[in-house]
Amino acid sequence: MRGMEVVSRKSLQPFNTFGIGVTAKYFAEVRDTEELRALVRDKRFCDGKRLVLGGGSNLLFTEDFDGLVVKNAIRGIRVTSEAGDRVVVRAGGGESWDAFVSWCTDHDYAGLENLSGIPGSVGAAPVQNIGAYGAELKDTFEGLEAVDLASGETERFSARDCAFGYRDSVFKGKDAGRFLITAVSFRLTRLDAAAQAYRFQTEYGELRAALGDRAASGLTLQAVREAVCGIRKAKLPDPAVLGNAGSFFKNPSLPAGVFERLQKHHAGMPGYPEAGGAVKVPAGWLIEKCGWKGRRQGRAGVHETQALVLVNHGGATGKEVLDLAHAIRRDVAGTFGIELTPEVTIV
Ligand SMILES: Cc1cc2nc3c(=O)[nH]c(=O)nc-3n(C[C@H](O)[C@H](O)[C@H](O)COP(=O)(O)OP(=O)(O)OC[C@H]3O[C@@H](n4cnc5c(N)ncnc54)[C@H](O)[C@@H]3O)c2cc1C
Repeated sequence: MRGMEVVSRKSLQPFNTFGIGVTAKYFAEVRDTEELRALVRDKRFCDGKRLVLGGGSNLLFTEDFDGLVVKNAIRGIRVTSEAGDRVVVRAGGGESWDAFVSWCTDHDYAGLENLSGIPGSVGAAPVQNIGAYGAELKDTFEGLEAVDLASGETERFSARDCAFGYRDSVFKGKDAGRFLITAVSFRLTRLDAAAQAYRFQTEYGELRAALGDRAASGLTLQAVREAVCGIRKAKLPDPAVLGNAGSFFKNPSLPAGVFERLQKHHAGMPGYPEAGGAVKVPAGWLIEKCGWKGRRQGRAGVHETQALVLVNHGGATGKEVLDLAHAIRRDVAGTFGIELTPEVTIV
């Protein structure tokens, strides 16, 4: 396998942002699809468990992984087509997501700037249709390539094939664990060639406030990127300092009637209307109302300013974090009758 190494009993602690100290039975880093194909066709790993790993920023390991962990290190960014002010850019799944966004901003390619500062890899971004500050990956998604881990064959997916939803796609649903996404393409706008003024997405309250007067005129990609990164830095714990995986739970979506009934009993309950008459409720508000904000349970805890973020205060096991998540879910269900769903993949 051209120098690719399969390591036994590898610690995964440096490979997950929660900093959970588990090991993988086997661990390999793949740099191209040839290496990946050779690996998945290797008899030693054909029947066992497999896990695709990007930056480990949306995972909670609860036990040692008794199989093969494949770390995606497939790199490369290139323009694949250009017409007028439209440009399609393709990035290897192992590229850092934020480095890719920065590359696009530097080249004056617009569309991903609101998704600045999200940790992890390009290949994992479609898995949960990453989103932030009024934008989602699906808004600029062109297509992706993925290798079927059972056959080693490459398949192409359109947006429709991916069935994107709120923090969701087929790769979290029916095809979970089946593919390794090797490359993702995005449809972006060339600002230097844009015939009409580009519409920046600045409706999101915090972003509008951070941009101030610039939101009305004279915006640049760099200004939006800096504002988004600034907001994120101020409110989210840095995993290098305090282990975490960002939002632990999804924001629940309720039928409007249910939301109205709940709001009568729980004054000030925030809700954001969605298409189809549903109302999205911030899970962080529900968790805070149940008294969990800033609380610790063993070595795990709830972040002191972001109730949606569970943290590892040092040496926590995945089981401790999971127990904390269960306790929170029980309280939220008991108080509001709402079942929280984890956003993080539990392994
Ligand atoms: C501080 C912080 C802030 C965050 N903020 C946001 C945010 O604003 N918005 C948001 O949406 N998310 C956010 N996240 C979550 C996370 O960054 C994203 O979900 C990210 O896309 C995960 O990328 P990763 O490479 O780390 O994936 P991993 O954690 O390595 O993997 C996540 C899942 O995807 C699968 N996977 C990974 N790579 C591939 C691949 N190439 N092919 C197929 N499957 C794959 C894994 O098997 C796993 O099931 C945040 C996380 C942190 C720590």
